[in-house]
Amino acid sequence: MKSRVLPALVIAVLALPMVGGAPVRAAVNSLGLRATYDVDATFNWATRAVSVRTEAHVTNPGSSVSTVAFNLVPLRQGNANLGSVTVNGSAVGASADDQTVLVPVGSALGAGDSATVVINYTATMNSSASGERYLFARADGIMAAYRWIPWLARELRYNRPSVGDPWATDLSSSVSVEITTDRVLKFASTGRRVSTSNGGLTQRFTASSVRDFNFTAAPDYVTRSRTVGNTKITFYYRAQNATSVLNVAAGSLAHYANKLGSAPYSTLNIGEVGPASRWPAIESPGHFWIPRNVAGNTRSWEVAHETAHQWFYASVGNDQAYEPFADEAVADFISRDYLNLWASSQCAQNDLDHTVYSIGSCYPWVIYVQGNLYLKKYRTDVGSADFWQGLRNYYQNNKFGFGGTRELLVTLDNAAGVNYNHGARFPSLF
Ligand SMILES: [Zn+2]
Repeated sequence: MKSRVLPALVIAVLALPMVGGAPVRAAVNSLGLRATYDVDATFNWATRAVSVRTEAHVTNPGSSVSTVAFNLVPLRQGNANLGSVTVNGSAVGASADDQTVLVPVGSALGAGDSATVVINYTATMNSSASGERYLFARADGIMAAYRWIPWLARELRYNRPSVGDPWATDLSSSVSVEITTDRVLKFASTGRRVSTSNGGLTQRFTASSVRDFNFTAAPDYVTRSRTVGNTKITFYYRAQNATSVLNVAAGSLAHYANKLGSAPYSTLNIGEVGPASRWPAIESPGHFWIPRNVAGNTRSWEVAHETAHQWFYASVGNDQAYEPFADEAVADFISRDYLNLWASSQCAQNDLDHTVYSIGSCYPWVIYVQGNLYLKKYRTDVGSADFWQGLRNYYQNNKFGFGGTRELLVTLDNAAGVNYNHGARFPSLF
């Protein structure tokens, strides 16, 4: 049901499904829509105040939609308050639910239509990075923001029992971000800086073919760079061992490019964050975060693992919440294979089609560790040459697109000419 004049009725219809007697609104899935983003933001280091205006130019290649979902993590981790929201210049009654902004678009996005959606919000960065406050914080000498641009998404629940990534967002061909700060900061971000003005307080960044845009910043970052193939790796650091981080980033990137095909982005900006007790490593397209104090094998594994995410999750997308095997198990396998550094699971064997919402604290042991060991055994069973050809095919077929766990495994089987018994560990998919 689509109506220009009755968006409230559309919402009412969406609200019909009932669970346990309470009305439950059906989740909105905006994967498949396309958008470019033009963002104007101020981030105040001193007060932690944030103000963001995002102009999303949305195109709908599919059938008509009445509500569009934008993921926005600061709704959960940044005390964000939604301001005015307009569609083609007219104010609409958008709402925030969990980590999602829901924008009623009336009849503006029929099949083949385009619309300009402007979303304003204000927020306050956290003063501590503990819990998951590091996702939107100015703490430990670092300013960091994760998934802070309202982004077309599948609407997903934020809360989950463990460390999983509760996100599924689609690729954008073009993102332009202008950030103004109250003191001069060095930014490690997705994409690259294209201009600076206002005495260095205003900086503009652009990125293309990315499914989110994140950054870390600090007044006292030092940088060191290294170029591998067509990718310039730059490490923005304060306390880490730059040589060790760059050695693993460069070595693993070259290894993955050799096995799978060239790296997807021309830049990889690594941002040092705070201590690992509060700040985990986390991936981003052309960018990732690494704690200041990890060392030895842990540092090597974290750098190689996050570098691997440039291929799987960033370039080849997947539903990170419902099919985490497709990015986490694969990234973990290729990084541990590169380092020849294996772990054993501290949880009983479980199915590998679990989601970030199930199996509690066993989630990383099952999906990452049992997952990478599953792929290791599979490679032994089908042979190394066929295995790598299959993984290369999966990357090439889905580069800057969207894959998934079943498609991954079927592509591997096709390259190896086998019909493997994946159903034993992926009962919902085979
Ligand atoms: Zn990961």
